[in-house]
Amino acid sequence: MVINMNIKDNLKSVNERISAAAAECGRKVSDIKLIAVTKTHPVEMINEAIELGITDIGENKPQEIRDKYDRVLPVKWHLIGHLQTNKVKYVIDRCSMIHSVDSIKLMDEIERLAMLHDKDMDILIEVNMSGEESKSGINPEEIDKIFSHAGELKRTHVKGIMTIAPLDKEPDECFKATKKMFDEAAKKNYKNVSMKELSMGMSGDYETAIKYGATMVRVGSAIFGARNYNLG
Ligand SMILES: *Cc1c(COP(=O)(O)O)cnc(C)c1O
Repeated sequence: MVINMNIKDNLKSVNERISAAAAECGRKVSDIKLIAVTKTHPVEMINEAIELGITDIGENKPQEIRDKYDRVLPVKWHLIGHLQTNKVKYVIDRCSMIHSVDSIKLMDEIERLAMLHDKDMDILIEVNMSGEESKSGINPEEIDKIFSHAGELKRTHVKGIMTIAPLDKEPDECFKATKKMFDEAAKKNYKNVSMKELSMGMSGDYETAIKYGATMVRVGSAIFGARNYNLG
């Protein structure tokens, strides 16, 4: 197994490319947050990245967050993968943002536990722009229903939208459509919805995502090298 363990150089290169992509479209680099995606990687690698300046990390499995949490240096945790209602308990006290909310049922369960734990939780609504069946996320037509529902919640706050570009196509169309939806939703002034964060872009397409207005990019393999799922 050959993996690139040079986190320092990789991180430097990703940060440089984020800066260049921002400069190219006249955006401020401070408006783009790098979320280092640490799923499957050991705590030692995560802590190394945090010591190198990473402030936000992303994991896609609630149980993995629970299992790693106590051994990771202080950092903001983001859940970026699918969340079942019975797993909210693993992330409610550990995550600062859940990017992958895709149903009213899940919003209500997050709200119930947020109340119970006397805390606020920021969420993003995951949109399936590409219409791929294998992907999670709501259909674009459901957005009004979901955003309207936010008005009934007190401790759960919608902060924006997340999307994953299709694997088999250029990401431009998906990112462009998501940005359009984001801007339209911002104009509607839904109660308890602030369109602040647009989470899109991964190792292969984060520069393109920045061009289309991403405020959060989720980058894993470009920082930590290839993942070995067998090692979990
Ligand atoms: C794994 C993952 C990423 C990071 O993917 P890379 O291609 O390794 O950068 C980003 N977003 C989500 C939702 C993921 O599951």
